[in-house]
Amino acid sequence: PPTPDGHRAFKTPDISFEFFPPKTEEMERSLWETIKRLAPLSPNFVSVTYGAGGSTRERTHSTIARILAETDLLPAAHLTCVGAARGEIDEIVGRYHEVGVRHIVALRGDPPGGIGTPYSTHPDGYRSSAELVAGIKRQHGDVEVSVSAYPEKHPESPDFDADIDFLKAKVDAGATRAITQVFFDNDIYFRYLDRVRARGIDIPIVPGIMPMHNFKQARNFVTRAGTSVPDWLAEKFEGLDDDPETRKLVAATVAAGQVQKLAKNGVDTFHFYTMNRADLVFAISHLLGIRPNGAQKAA
Ligand code: FAD
Repeated sequence: PPTPDGHRAFKTPDISFEFFPPKTEEMERSLWETIKRLAPLSPNFVSVTYGAGGSTRERTHSTIARILAETDLLPAAHLTCVGAARGEIDEIVGRYHEVGVRHIVALRGDPPGGIGTPYSTHPDGYRSSAELVAGIKRQHGDVEVSVSAYPEKHPESPDFDADIDFLKAKVDAGATRAITQVFFDNDIYFRYLDRVRARGIDIPIVPGIMPMHNFKQARNFVTRAGTSVPDWLAEKFEGLDDDPETRKLVAATVAAGQVQKLAKNGVDTFHFYTMNRADLVFAISHLLGIRPNGAQKAA
């Protein structure tokens, strides 16, 4: 509703942050600096990714365990089922449940050869992300399950209908939130949302936002995952390859513009791909009206 000064009042959005498990002690220190800075923004949850094919299984677990032990944050553990037997997956989920984790981001995962190479399931494995969701819910009804969504469709999907059928199967299996692959053109998200709602899917489809600290690197990475990078965006970073300071300001401006436009159009939940860095995400959250809560235990 409009406020007395004529501006529309928006609810302060809900946010969540995604981290990846650190490889070295130096990276671990830097992640914890980031967590310390971002924790007071009171995110709904923070998630920790799972390396391709389970390569970070132990590191994902220990990062999640440390978040549980040292902060008041609610952690969500990413888990992929590619290349693993059901028994292994069930054991991982059981371990998470035992230490108190009540949120899993359930994914199929990339084929071992990378996106675009043929996918085959483990002979005793969950055959799809929907089966994984059902498996988790069957064993632990109290675990919240989030899944992925692809506003530009997954590169393996023949068309949008097939892609959205997959999302529907995941929702029918018990998923209650979808987090999108990164996108840069908000119209793509809104068109996707229309299609998803028309298919009768009513769970939150939370936009995944990635501030581009390093445009060139990020472009290569997201393009492989099926995200298009519009020319207008590439132009904003032109000539800045050797100028990280300006690149950072531009990246913050671009991502802040994107979330503010989404918020104006009614989006009230955002998931940030932090790349384990706090500065841009903190600034963008600030522009969304989010302020630190001094009482939040940071670390
Ligand atoms: P699904 O939702 O299972 O499938 C995506 C689409 O691919 C479907 O809609 C369907 O159309 C098509 N498809 C899938 N399987 C088949 C099939 N057998 N035949 C035909 N079409 C098929 N990867 C990691 O390794 N670790 C992570 O922590 C991680 N986190 C992620 C978090 C988010 C929010 C997102 C969006 C992605 C993440 N990924 C992660 C990447 C993900 O694992 C890959 O995109 C993978 O290729 C698909 O897994 P999924 O569960 O997203 O796919």
